[in-house]
Amino acid sequence: MPNESLGGLFSAPTGVKVDTAAVETAPTAEAGDSQIHDVIIVGSGPAGYTAAIYAARANLRPLLFASSVSPGGDLMTTTEVENFPGFVDGIQGPELMTTIGAQAERFGTDIRYEDVESLELEGEVKKVILSDGSTFLTRTVIISTGSEYRKLDVDGEQRLSGHGVSWCATCDGFFFKGKTLAVIGGGDSAVEEALYLTNHAAKVYLVHRRDTLRASEIMQKRAFDNPKIEMVWDSAVQSINGEDKVSSITLTNTKTSEESELVVDGVFVAIGSDPRTALVRDILELTEAGTIAVDGRSSRTSIPGVFAAGDVIDSTYRQAITAAGSGCVAALDAQHYLESLS
Ligand code: NAP
Repeated sequence: MPNESLGGLFSAPTGVKVDTAAVETAPTAEAGDSQIHDVIIVGSGPAGYTAAIYAARANLRPLLFASSVSPGGDLMTTTEVENFPGFVDGIQGPELMTTIGAQAERFGTDIRYEDVESLELEGEVKKVILSDGSTFLTRTVIISTGSEYRKLDVDGEQRLSGHGVSWCATCDGFFFKGKTLAVIGGGDSAVEEALYLTNHAAKVYLVHRRDTLRASEIMQKRAFDNPKIEMVWDSAVQSINGEDKVSSITLTNTKTSEESELVVDGVFVAIGSDPRTALVRDILELTEAGTIAVDGRSSRTSIPGVFAAGDVIDSTYRQAITAAGSGCVAALDAQHYLESLS
């Protein structure tokens, strides 16, 4: 079912000139249709939409399954995006995603706000099966299901998300100039986030539930040597507090059970992330990091005709722009694969 709240967002905005001559009519893939599509894309973040733009412009008439609950991916819940090239004054995350989606639609991408339940990927014709049981056939599949940041699951985390709670220092650190911040976690991501945030913040508490970091030695040394970073050991976050923006966090000492309050202006949660691979976990080869394994710099997975792009193959960079580039690669790989079939 289309997501009501997003209905119409993907039509071209008023005032945008659409070259209708260039628009191919997307195939009317009825639920469970019997036609064989060239490309089906699963996932609607920057990777999926960019793959759709390239595939549609190559006349491959892609069918894209965006989720019924969270089409557009993580950027739909971000506020201002200032590091995506092309927007001098920045752009709101949801606007960026709806615009890229509209661009994909402009060239004939058929976007459906439905959830893919399972995939059958072996053989030349693959099956994409939705939660209502309807089945779509395709020669190639591009998987761009993204990743999700792990959540603390504490009071205030969700409510204050975008109001002082963030999962991305490079996205949001700029907004905390001269402020006091807490980074939660003890791995490389947490240390990296903390170090990055010292470029903007006056002080950064690195809050970890144990008394040794999991991060690599070199990263640990950088953290310990940085005068703006103060370690808060043996501390688990109980709640993130504040009316309409973060004002403090409540901590429990994991050794003494003592409770304390730390006054901060922002909280960066960096306790790891998980690629969304549930659909293909038992079908495609995965890496040790849990991402879908691809062949070198390509998007080719362990099954011919199946390509993967974006955060689901990348545990390192995880940026909107790198995901978009990866989506482009997947569409080009799919196109070359289809050409090799004919
Ligand atoms: P990670 O290594 O899994 O570390 C997650 C950290 O969060 C751990 O310290 C863990 O605590 C803590 N944690 C997990 N769940 C928690 C919870 N519910 N509450 C509080 N703390 C929690 O994840 P990562 O830091 O994202 O790194 C993932 C991979 O990417 C690693 O292989 C890492 O080396 C790599 N990476 C490398 C770089 C770099 O080299 N520059 C940068 C980023 C990531 P415990 O330690 O107690 O388990």
